[in-house]
Formats: sequence, C-alpha cells, structure tokens
Amino acid sequence: MSHHPARPAEDAARETTAPHALITGAARGIGAAIARRLAADGCRVTLLGRSGEALAALQAALPGAGHGRVVADVADEAAVQAAFDAARAAAGPIRILVNNAGQARSAAFAKTRLQDWQDMLAVNLTGVFLCSRAAIADMLAARQGRIVNIASTAGQKGYAYVAAYTAAKHGVVGLTRSMALEYARSGVTVNAVCPGYTDTDILREGVANAAARTGRDPAAILDEFLAVNPQRRAVRPDEVADAVSWLCGAGAQSVTGQCISVSGGEVT
Ligand code: NAP
Repeated sequence: MSHHPARPAEDAARETTAPHALITGAARGIGAAIARRLAADGCRVTLLGRSGEALAALQAALPGAGHGRVVADVADEAAVQAAFDAARAAAGPIRILVNNAGQARSAAFAKTRLQDWQDMLAVNLTGVFLCSRAAIADMLAARQGRIVNIASTAGQKGYAYVAAYTAAKHGVVGLTRSMALEYARSGVTVNAVCPGYTDTDILREGVANAAARTGRDPAAILDEFLAVNPQRRAVRPDEVADAVSWLCGAGAQSVTGQCISVSGGEVT
C-alpha cells in the first residue's frame, strides 16, 4: 500500500471544516441515501462507483459543497488505489469510508457456477478489503477515522438460494470484527450495518429472478420476502443511512466491531 505525501497545513485546514467521507457504490439505492445523509451532516463526500454519469447527477444534487466523484470497480486493486489517490488529491485525507458497493446474484447452490461464486466474493468481500486498505493509512495518521461496512442480515444468518452472497457477507462481518480489534487503540472504529430487505434495485431484481426461476407471481414472492421482517415491510434506504450517520458521529467512538441489524427485528 502506498503512502501519500503529507500536506499538513492544507489538510488541517480542511479537516476543521468538513470531514472527507468516501462512499462506494454511491450512485443509487442505499449508497445514494448515505451520500445525501453524510453531505447533510456536513461532510465533503466523494462518490465512488462504476458509472461517472450516474455519480455526476447525484453529486450535483448533494447539499453542501466540495463534493467529488471517482470511478472504479471495487474489486480491481489498481483501480481502487488510483481512485482513492484521486479522491485524496482533490479533497484531502479520508476520515470516513462507507463500503456499500455490492451485488446479490441468486442461484440454487448446486447450480452456482465458480464464476458466480468468485464474482460475489470479489465485489462484496474483496472490495471491502481493498477499499479499507486504501483508506486506513489516512485514518491512522490522523488518529481518527470511521469505517462502516454495509453488510446484510445475510452476514448474520443464512438464506436459501444466495449461498455465495451470504458467504461473502459473513466474511464482511468477520473482517469488520478483526479490523475493529486491530485498530481499537488508534481512534478508528470499524462497524457493519446489516440491512434486511431494503427498497432498492437489488430487492426488485431478486424478486424478478425468483419469479423467472419459479414462474410464480412477483407480488407473492415480494410478500414472502418481506414476511421475514417482523415489521412486514421493506427497510427504507434512509433508515440505513441514519444508522451510518450515527456510527460516523463523535458520540459513537466506543462503538466498534459491531453488526447493527437494521431489519425490523428479523435478527435479534
Ligand atoms: P443497488 O441499488 O443495486 O446499488 C448497488 C450499488 O453498488 C450501485 O451503485 C452499483 O453501481 C454499485 N456496485 C456494484 N458493483 C460494484 C463494483 N464492482 N464496483 C463499484 N460499485 C459497484 O443495491 P443496494 O440495495 O443499494 O445495495 C447497497 C449495499 O447494501 C450492497 O452491499 C448490498 O449487498 C447491501 N444490502 C442491500 C439489501 C437490500 O435488500 N437492498 C439488503 C442488505 C444489504 P452501478 O450503478 O455501477 O451498478
């Protein structure tokens, strides 16, 4: 991992004004809600995603000033490093990293191709590793930082037909717990937020896939998905963003290594 030349006076000046928060997979869904929320909280936000156009549209709509965007696939080591270097050059050291980028591909276990398995681990788990490694030096140098990983209830319990995704999300929870211990005395906290079914494209695609696989009515499948939530509804992206916002605040300094389930009581 590369170190970055210090620009102490400039960095310190920016630091007192607005912390620099980088959010992966920020273009839509939960990531976009987190970006809006952290911008409203007063952060300078860097949006990371695969489509510059989608990021530009969101960037223009964010409250506050000093926001930016970088394009990378979180599973690509060189692209991640280049994107984090660009973000740092534009907005100074990273104080908050939200690892949100993710994909959920469903398949019966016996029909899961090696490529599907590897893709799920790459985006959902290796991406968290690469982005956290690219950001940690900034946080250690400042002796303060926040890493929040958007895992899933699939990091806390099993679900049929998403074995690869579930294995990857359990991996994210393990990574979170280990990093929290390693950095406990450094001013950096590392936590996971674990949403249940949330009203985004991932849920809509999951319903469409299950309908295509089984020939069943999509509305009935959605009802079945949401029946696992004791509140009998989908979580809203802004509810996940609220949990992230709290974890990023000064009052959450003692909270580290946790998996906060935002799931209407699905996991207790
Ligand atoms: P979404 O609407 O599909 O958004 C996913 C975002 O991740 C998109 O912006 C996508 O970018 C980005 N992304 C995907 N692969 C990427 C890659 N390789 N590199 C960089 N960015 C990538 O889904 P969402 O529901 O908001 O999901 C956000 C996170 O929440 C994921 O980690 C997901 O596993 C987790 N989660 C979701 C639910 C749910 O029910 N929705 C429940 C639990 C956990 P593009 O726009 O370029 O595709």
